[in-house]
Amino acid sequence: MNVLLLGSGGREHAMALAIAKSPLLDTLFAAPGNPGIAAVATLLAVDPEDHAAVIAACRANAVGLVVVGPEAPLVGGIVDALEEAGITAFGPTKAAARLEGSKSFTKALCAARGIPTADFRCFETAVAARAYVSARGAPIVVKADGLASGKGVVVAATVDEAHDAIDRVFGGAFGAAGASVVIEDVLEGEEASFFALCDGHHAVAFASAQDHKRLEDGDRGPNTGGMGAYSPAPILDEAGEAAVMRAIIEPALAGMAEVGTPFKGVLFAGLMIAPDGPKLIEFNTRFGDPETQAMLPRLREDFLGLLLACAEGRMPPTRPRFAADAALTIVLAARGYPAAPKKGGAIEGLDAAGRGAIVTHAGTRLVEGQLVADGGRVLNITGLGATIAEARARAYAGAALVRWTDSVYRHDIGARALVARNTPSAHDDGAVDLV
Ligand code: AMP
Repeated sequence: MNVLLLGSGGREHAMALAIAKSPLLDTLFAAPGNPGIAAVATLLAVDPEDHAAVIAACRANAVGLVVVGPEAPLVGGIVDALEEAGITAFGPTKAAARLEGSKSFTKALCAARGIPTADFRCFETAVAARAYVSARGAPIVVKADGLASGKGVVVAATVDEAHDAIDRVFGGAFGAAGASVVIEDVLEGEEASFFALCDGHHAVAFASAQDHKRLEDGDRGPNTGGMGAYSPAPILDEAGEAAVMRAIIEPALAGMAEVGTPFKGVLFAGLMIAPDGPKLIEFNTRFGDPETQAMLPRLREDFLGLLLACAEGRMPPTRPRFAADAALTIVLAARGYPAAPKKGGAIEGLDAAGRGAIVTHAGTRLVEGQLVADGGRVLNITGLGATIAEARARAYAGAALVRWTDSVYRHDIGARALVARNTPSAHDDGAVDLV
């Protein structure tokens, strides 16, 4: 079968590598793709949010399945448009993508279905939101309601900080995402990401990961799209994953089916693992970036077969198999990211880096045969190993071989997992060797 993958990031490169291995695949197309994806797919100059252009590309290339990588086309209704045109797609409809696109919708579902999450209130005016925060006190979390690329959330330590955040949301800092605000209590615990494949009525656990949102070592600096990840998440053992399926994924799926908007695709639960069990921070309705770069190299099953089964509403009841190995991904970003990443610098050394690690492209471009940086997050280097420590050593060895003068990356990806599990590379005093 011919497959069209929508997107152009590191997540999509990892997905392309996994799809390319499938015995079901004839030709893989990607729109718009990137120079890394071009090694395994034919690139099409099509905007993933342009419904008519995507449908025309599917018809011209006899595409049997469209796989949607990023959230924006989902929230914009690309899957509805494809289904109307009779083209099978992996991903939720616009109505089902509200699980990511609207925090207030998800909170209402949590309340209706008893899904554990932080206590919350939604407000449509700054005056009411400010008054609630004054009464409730700090710390408290302020969230713009709609999609804000992970930048619409402030965990406020003081009431003043929360008031400022509310004013920014209603002042238009997040565009349409700021038409209303969700205020919620702070959850305590360790964060983890959990992914389940859903066919509208059934869900199976896929894999877990943990990511690093802040730009700098020690979880300092601004929030980013993600600076690294590892999989599996040591904090989620088998019993923990079963609890997430039972308490969070299955009730959400049942709730979506009941209101007539069944969820198909991958449901990504951002979790806080609290002492009394997992709690939902948020849902996303697509694979995570960079979590996917760390999860897919561990998959021991036909990824395309799984995506197709979800899209066609025939999810097998058994969980996909994964290697027991760990994988760890480092994001190489451009100096100045996230505010003003420096573009255009030449990148060399990827063949050498790719010998002991997996290199995926996120923001690169070819200019007259030379690979250059062309975005904020530019490359991902993923190491595999029997332990997180081993995977981490391979990933950092790979990153050290990349020759690109504007590169910045964190040196402590996975450090917390090593400390928490007291693996051999953690010192007795809890400090960890940084590379
Ligand atoms: P979200 O976009 O909702 O995932 O929030 C982004 C980040 O803000 C999360 O990954 C958490 O680190 C933090 N966060 C969001 N909500 C809460 C909460 N209720 N308690 C503590 N931290 C939170």
